[in-house]
Amino acid sequence: MNGVNDSLKNSTNFKNVLDFISSKGSHKSYGSVYDFLTETGKQLPQDQAFFMFDLADILWKTQLWYEKLPNVAPYYAVKANADPVLMKLFVLLGYGFDCSTEGEIRLALKSGADPRKIIFAHTIKTHKALEYASSVGVDFMTFDTKEELLKISKDFPTARLVLRLKAESTQEFYNLSKKFGCELYEAEDLLLQAKNLNLNVVGVSFHVGALIECSEIYTSAIEKSRQVFDTAQKLGFKFTIMDIGAGFFGSTEKEHVFHKVSQDIKRSLKENFPNGDVEFIAEPGCYCVASAVSLTTSILGKKSVNSKETNQISREYFVNDSYYGSFFEHHDLYDVKPVPVLNPYELKERTKYKSKIWGQTCCSEDVAKEECVLPDMEEGEFIQWLNMGAYARGVASNFTIVPYPVHKHVFIHNPRLKLNNIPNLSEVMEYISQVSVLIKQNGEENKLMPIRE
Ligand SMILES: *Cc1c(COP(=O)(O)O)cnc(C)c1O
Repeated sequence: MNGVNDSLKNSTNFKNVLDFISSKGSHKSYGSVYDFLTETGKQLPQDQAFFMFDLADILWKTQLWYEKLPNVAPYYAVKANADPVLMKLFVLLGYGFDCSTEGEIRLALKSGADPRKIIFAHTIKTHKALEYASSVGVDFMTFDTKEELLKISKDFPTARLVLRLKAESTQEFYNLSKKFGCELYEAEDLLLQAKNLNLNVVGVSFHVGALIECSEIYTSAIEKSRQVFDTAQKLGFKFTIMDIGAGFFGSTEKEHVFHKVSQDIKRSLKENFPNGDVEFIAEPGCYCVASAVSLTTSILGKKSVNSKETNQISREYFVNDSYYGSFFEHHDLYDVKPVPVLNPYELKERTKYKSKIWGQTCCSEDVAKEECVLPDMEEGEFIQWLNMGAYARGVASNFTIVPYPVHKHVFIHNPRLKLNNIPNLSEVMEYISQVSVLIKQNGEENKLMPIRE
């Protein structure tokens, strides 16, 4: 066993990694995603969907992060996906954590996180949560009001505080600056108040909102933060933390946006904080998990529509998840995409129809996909939905008392993974081999093909 570990340490050859996981013979391995999805789907009750977590994709995102933003420490935003297996993997990979509640802090600590690498990033905190944070040594937190400073001075006077600034947002749906952050002109007053209360403010944070395409939103927020650093210095504070928040896309389709935005962020940080005395952190949520997780739904029923008015033949399917479950409002903004789980032969042979996919509840608003083109499918067959890792599970309810989707963890062969900048590699691979099955996906013919819309 040690021999295998040593060879892993000395090699970043992906084949060694696959061999290593294969050698831990206690679990199954699959030849293709298709095999895994159909086998798993058939084992579950008909009303229960399942998430497939690809841990190789988590490693890929980690590799890409360190390639693009080597000086920015990622603090994973737990609210994006609180799956315990993932949490533990993020701990092993050296991530810090952005927690917004006591519950998330408890989960992070239970997963093995270092309390010094947790930021309590909700600006409004309960007394109970502050007392808990204090009792476990989670002393790093954000604020944006005088009232919260008073609260903190009573409940946790030694905390390390980060002032949250408003940032402009282009994305109407997730404009967090409506709710959080102070204006630049309010910062000095807040810092004076902190000074009077003898509180320890150590830096600035912002969050530009979700799914941001445009670098200027980050760079202008970094410039504003620089001004707060200068004000703080004038008031006698020694700031050491610049927290750039998140808002990065997590789908593979939008990876190019991260390439561009990360480059501009890196340059702006260097320009505004040239002395190397400031620690940079970020709070990626969606970025880390969106593409790693797919949802597989089973078709519960079907309606062949032959419209007399439009003379059009189409299909409607009912699947075993819903708007009240995983298909939350605006989920399509995350590049969620249905893929029929069919083998290449079936995919080619079957007639394609304009299709609508309904969720399983008895609500008429409950639509998973308004319109797409799918091959003619049957009850009991499966539809996989890509890019479902961010927020889908967290915001789901069990309206109409149907079970939540099951979580399955896999490691899918990924030729882009070089593993050369993955921290803690042997421990990480050891863990992955314990918690996941392996999907080798040898040839092109084993891949599932997304249908064009
Ligand atoms: C939600 C949230 C995040 C994560 O945002 P993503 O866009 O999913 O990366 C990070 N920080 C704070 C304060 C948040 O509220």
